[in-house]
Amino acid sequence: MKRISLLGATGSIGIQTLDVIREHPEEFELVSMSAGRNMELTRKIITEFLPELVSVQEKDDAERLKADFPQVKIVYGLEGLEEAAVFHKADILVNAVLGSVGLGPTLGAIRSGKAIAIANKETLVTAGHIVMEEAKRYNVPILPVDSEHSAIFQALQGEKEKNIERLILTASGGSFRDRTREELQGVTKADALNHPNWSMGAKITIDSATMMNKGLEVIEAHWLFSLPYDDISVILHRESIIHSMVEFHDTSIMAQLGTPDMKVPIQYALTYPDRLPLVSGKRLNLAEIGRLHFTEMDFNRFRCLKFAYEAGRAGGTMPAVMNAANEAAVASFLDDRITFLQIEDLIERAMESHSTIENPDLETIQEVDKETRRYVKSLL
Ligand code: NDP
Ligand code: MG
Repeated sequence: MKRISLLGATGSIGIQTLDVIREHPEEFELVSMSAGRNMELTRKIITEFLPELVSVQEKDDAERLKADFPQVKIVYGLEGLEEAAVFHKADILVNAVLGSVGLGPTLGAIRSGKAIAIANKETLVTAGHIVMEEAKRYNVPILPVDSEHSAIFQALQGEKEKNIERLILTASGGSFRDRTREELQGVTKADALNHPNWSMGAKITIDSATMMNKGLEVIEAHWLFSLPYDDISVILHRESIIHSMVEFHDTSIMAQLGTPDMKVPIQYALTYPDRLPLVSGKRLNLAEIGRLHFTEMDFNRFRCLKFAYEAGRAGGTMPAVMNAANEAAVASFLDDRITFLQIEDLIERAMESHSTIENPDLETIQEVDKETRRYVKSLL
């Protein structure tokens, strides 16, 4: 029996993690969780899964929950998030919270010796050097939940790092993959939120449309698999059937295939190195799919991918700046305050105005994160 602490239980990944837990009651138990502001869903989850500790974003919500669930320990805010992450009864943390708030709780859980199933890519992007170093020091595994990284992780089982030629991340291309840059003028939030293959939270769906999601994933891959950026490539693959690949020096390429269903990588992170049947999943029918397509990535069309390689190669605080600018810009776009193409402009300006600080500690990263958000706000 694995005891799970789940951050971001009310989100897209969180809900699918709960599906996996529900489908394997003999294997998994939810012992602590966090939610943001969705109290209706939080109440339902508490009633069904009876976790011992629950953290929510706001104090008022916490007070109301305390009154209704006296048997549960209710905490709130950033401190609460960390408390949920390090809950003593949990064996593994599933970090499915959104954005750079996931960083502190991840480090806390590592230092408490918990295995980490990481969906929250912003954590690795902003502080990959600290997270991976701490994981090594405390000897805890960092298990990828992101489908591309899970695919690579699976393709690498039994392989030696020294034999890797390069990683090939696949990108579906997002909602606007068939549009030119001119055709991106004036696209709406509703258009952007309509992803052709995957059903995900709003922020990552926008990130897919701008290709920033793939950019974040390139940096994520750099840290997870400790490879230089020259050995990480991206290819457009519109069907999202091959979730990513590893090419070896002998030219062999190992790929992981599956239907676009996040429950598969979530469950693999929870069962690794074992596997369990997927209770409510669809089997891949290759004959039905018939063909798979691959196209070279166009860095001028998808500028955010270019920014991510630049930020990754610059290292230090630059990825944190790129990430914070992106979080702020996407939030403004979702608030109807800027246009779609302004997202990349804001990221570019934030990166241009920043001088990289080498090997930053956690405080510096958090300070730079705040500063960047202020800067982006000042440009609006
Ligand atoms: P969602 O927006 O669907 O969910 C985010 C979760 O985090 C919700 O539970 C939300 O609470 C909570 N939350 C948001 N902001 C805060 C905050 N400031 N403090 C505390 N809790 C907060 O996101 P996704 O599930 O789509 O994504 C989660 C992470 O996983 C992201 O890092 C994303 O990049 C990554 N990921 C997602 C994939 C997907 O398929 N969705 C695939 C691969 C990676 P509430 O809703 O209650 O307010
Ligand atoms: Mg992904």
